[in-house]
Amino acid sequence: MLRSVILRHSRTISRNSWVARAFRSEKVDKETGLFGNKNLKTAESFNELPAAVKKSTDALIQELLTPSQNPRTSIQIVDDISNEICKSADLAECVRQLHSEPEFRNAAEDVSRNFCELVESLNTNTALYQKLKSSEITESSRLDDVDKRTLTLLLDDFEQSGVHLKDNQKEQFVQLSSEIFDAGARFQQNCDRIVSVGKFDQAKYGLPSQIYTPVSNSLDRSKRKMVYNTFYRHDDIQESYLQHLISSRHQLSQLTGFESFAHRAQRNSLLENYDTVRSFLWGVVEKCRGAFEKELAVLIDVSAQCSQQDNNNGNNEISTIAEHDLGFLMHLYRESAYDIAQVSQQSSPFFTFNSIWNGFSTLTQRLYGVRLIEEPLISGEMWNSSGVMKLQAVDEQNNELGVIYVDVSIRPEKAVGDCHYTVRCSKQLSDGTWQMPILVLSLGLVDGHSSQWRNSRVSFHSAETMFHELGHAMHSILGRTKYQHVAGTRCPQDFSEIPSNLMEYFFSDLGVMTDIIRRTDRPEEQLSIESAATLLASRHSFTAIETVQQAAYGLYDLEVHGPIAAPQIASGRMTTTELFHDIMNKTMPHIQRSPDSAFQHRFHHTVQYGAKYYSYLVARASACLIWQQRFLNDPFSRKWGDCWAEVQSHGGGHHPAVLLEKILGFRPTENDLTQALSKESQHLANLDAVTV
Ligand SMILES: [Zn+2]
Repeated sequence: MLRSVILRHSRTISRNSWVARAFRSEKVDKETGLFGNKNLKTAESFNELPAAVKKSTDALIQELLTPSQNPRTSIQIVDDISNEICKSADLAECVRQLHSEPEFRNAAEDVSRNFCELVESLNTNTALYQKLKSSEITESSRLDDVDKRTLTLLLDDFEQSGVHLKDNQKEQFVQLSSEIFDAGARFQQNCDRIVSVGKFDQAKYGLPSQIYTPVSNSLDRSKRKMVYNTFYRHDDIQESYLQHLISSRHQLSQLTGFESFAHRAQRNSLLENYDTVRSFLWGVVEKCRGAFEKELAVLIDVSAQCSQQDNNNGNNEISTIAEHDLGFLMHLYRESAYDIAQVSQQSSPFFTFNSIWNGFSTLTQRLYGVRLIEEPLISGEMWNSSGVMKLQAVDEQNNELGVIYVDVSIRPEKAVGDCHYTVRCSKQLSDGTWQMPILVLSLGLVDGHSSQWRNSRVSFHSAETMFHELGHAMHSILGRTKYQHVAGTRCPQDFSEIPSNLMEYFFSDLGVMTDIIRRTDRPEEQLSIESAATLLASRHSFTAIETVQQAAYGLYDLEVHGPIAAPQIASGRMTTTELFHDIMNKTMPHIQRSPDSAFQHRFHHTVQYGAKYYSYLVARASACLIWQQRFLNDPFSRKWGDCWAEVQSHGGGHHPAVLLEKILGFRPTENDLTQALSKESQHLANLDAVTV
């Protein structure tokens, strides 16, 4: 029932181990505890959490299993059990990742382990599972559509622990699950490995002894090629971990009655099955091909100009586009076509942390009547002494809807990467009131120790990321579900990424951007149309190439778990490198690549998303469709804003297609989704030629 928490743990433990833990913040007398909870003033107080949670869940389990005429349904009670655990486990997880004091982090890590064990024991509790399973029939007259869907999702989570299997199968299930976990963890640990460079190549290319990235913006083509191909070289150890992972996942899916892991992974998703996902991804590739080739032609022109310069220098290599050159040529184009460095510099006073969250608040106020207000912090409430802001979300009647903490300071012990934590979900409580959601956004944006951190400048890219992450937070704030199991972002990933992607569409609209992004010191001043247009044109140049590339990665991730490739990889008849090249050559045939390069050996997402990496593209396509249909011509439409807020309030309580129908008026097919992306890429692919 708490599968998401367990997965998050497994994903982050390895990352945390190499994060330095030297920094320690100043200690002050505390008026309250973490998140305003007076019981969490000290690290030791975390030790009390597991026993308190166990006590309340035991009482609920007893209520569930005691035969009686209970007015509450089984699903209500199980969701309460889940809520009791999540309220503490999710809070502990956030503290484990973000707290600046090692005592707190260690205490949170210890209790997280306790919660994992508790969850594992409940997930494999046959009596609990059977009671819930039988309620599908015994309580069916008392269940509405939301109850039924939540019940299905909860049972599905239970079944991921093999609780429903016969004893001999259960043993095999546990064994395979543990092999999947181990192979995945080992593979991920190696994804970011550093590559050593030999003495000869160091001297020849002027390289350091180690390389950390595949990107070289050197003007020397052979150096760019060498760096890229060395970084992504096929690695036999990674291949063996992948082979093990794919093989175990394939066996596990067959044990549970599915043709392949790629089939199993599509349960409860928008596209519903393997064949539709496949056809969606190939549809994206085919329909974006025209725009893709247009953009490629621009890059070939840039490449030819570079070759001309190379030829003048005696380098006679023929002008072609190679995989290792894509990033470099795009960079060169943006520099020449948009003079992007200078425009970014001129417009930078408009892009500060304060101006961006205020701009977001202006947008949500116009769309939904919900605004964000900065609240003073109470000592002890925070996990770090500076660089954290508390925002209260309120509606037009000043009702409090929830709290968003935004932690923007860069500090060594903070987990890497931008992410959000749902510390507490929205949920209807048994007395009819709503549990107030608490969200935390963690972004590495500014030096939190600077007294001016609120007005620190952020890059255009970071501003867009803030809109994305605040979009996730607003999804949870707007949540009004009976059950916490389906609240806010707790829905299939193809839907949970739609609100955040839609916010990026608003941010990328010229009219919206110049209207809502204001200098905090001079709010009457507007960002010039020319600057905004240049920033946006640069950002969205080469969208078709990016889209086709994402579809290709999605196809690889799907097929590597699919019915044809997985058995071949498991038995050693095919390598993942062969599969990857086969897909890349079909999807992006004009781009040359070295047969020995193996991007997929560094692709973390194979472990995390397993046959669902494509969900991001589905979410983007859905957001694109919503934008085109409902907001493009009237971005501040309150009518459609209210409608979209209502859709978000359901979280994962309905099938994604049902929710999309509420805003679009129809259930989008995979063809509608590919059309939306194709239309967008055709519109954006009209790039002018440049002289570099
Ligand atoms: Zn996201």
